[in-house]
Amino acid sequence: MKFGSKLIHNGNEIDEKTGALSIPIYQASTFHQQDIEKDQEFDYSRSGNPTRKALEKTIAALENGDRGFALASGMAATSTVLSIFSAKDNIIMCEDVYGGSYRIAANFFSRFNVEISFVDATNQDNIRKCIKSNTKAIFLESPSNPLLRITDLKACVKLANDHNLLLIIDNTFMSPYLQKPLDLGFDIVIHSATKFIGGHSDVIGGLVAVKGAELAKRIYAVQNGFGAILGPQDSWLLLRGLKTLKVRMDCQQKSAQILAEWLLENEKIEAVYYPGLTSHEGYEIHKSQADGPGAVLSFKTKEKDTAIRFMKKVNLAAVAVSLGGVETIVSYPVKMSHASMPKTERERLGITDNLIRVSVGLEDIEDLIEDFDRALIG
Ligand SMILES: *Cc1c(COP(=O)(O)O)cnc(C)c1O
Repeated sequence: MKFGSKLIHNGNEIDEKTGALSIPIYQASTFHQQDIEKDQEFDYSRSGNPTRKALEKTIAALENGDRGFALASGMAATSTVLSIFSAKDNIIMCEDVYGGSYRIAANFFSRFNVEISFVDATNQDNIRKCIKSNTKAIFLESPSNPLLRITDLKACVKLANDHNLLLIIDNTFMSPYLQKPLDLGFDIVIHSATKFIGGHSDVIGGLVAVKGAELAKRIYAVQNGFGAILGPQDSWLLLRGLKTLKVRMDCQQKSAQILAEWLLENEKIEAVYYPGLTSHEGYEIHKSQADGPGAVLSFKTKEKDTAIRFMKKVNLAAVAVSLGGVETIVSYPVKMSHASMPKTERERLGITDNLIRVSVGLEDIEDLIEDFDRALIG
């Protein structure tokens, strides 16, 4: 079955008890136990809830994993995954990982002596050189934020296999529609479901899909033990959002391509970062490991003032953090997502004060371009 059909018919869309075509929101903390001598599937909602279960089975099916988990946020998902490691374990993480992931790795897990090495993962040699005897995993993000840098995922699979390492990826920017890391040989996929999976800027959630029963058991132990679970109402919102993932992404991605090409031709623009442009570094690699460039792009204006003016004058697009919603969102990383990063480090990573990130929504592209054109001219 192709992906669009699978979104609608994956075996988890009908309530077994009633036949309801929308999984009911089982807003219950506890469940009556029919027979104290017999195990029953649900006893307490931290351990398992029918609405959450439908979502967890759905993300496992969509990522071709063996088991899925729904957590309270993307960060709860990442924290849960990192919590399967122990003191003295080393994890290699790409240096342009999501800001929140960087923060918990550097400031939180370090307190428990989980050692995290940050590398420029776009270069395989860098990763190889970082592998030590206590290295247990590689944690990647491709395309990364906000410059859409591409990591060669298949080469990483080979490297990880050679050294017996777990491979983890934050697949938020691609969604399960455009990139299936478990099929490439990854072990764990993480999503901030707040973004494309929810799709409507109305829910915070995180999802994990894993390969193998042993790994699933380790993650379940953290989910149940640590307890950062997703509630039934939010699970339902994600189930609903998922059904339109393909049509939303198809439309948003098409507009993103048009917008990226238009920006490339604009005289006020210095550079455009989008994996759908043949000029984008890693274009061929991305094409070989994903089914599309997605709906997030970023660009640099020639003058800093143009960027500031654009952010003030842009009208149709919302000025906000976050991405993946039905509305176009523009953000100014220097003052928003990367404000807490020291300036020198930011500039080393190419996050300069003329950089703007765009998550393209479902508006008609003509209206969006008209708005951008006006905001760039000022
Ligand atoms: C937003 C985001 C996260 C964090 O997700 P939350 O749902 O906000 O906790 C993690 N990774 C990426 C790539 C993101 O964009």
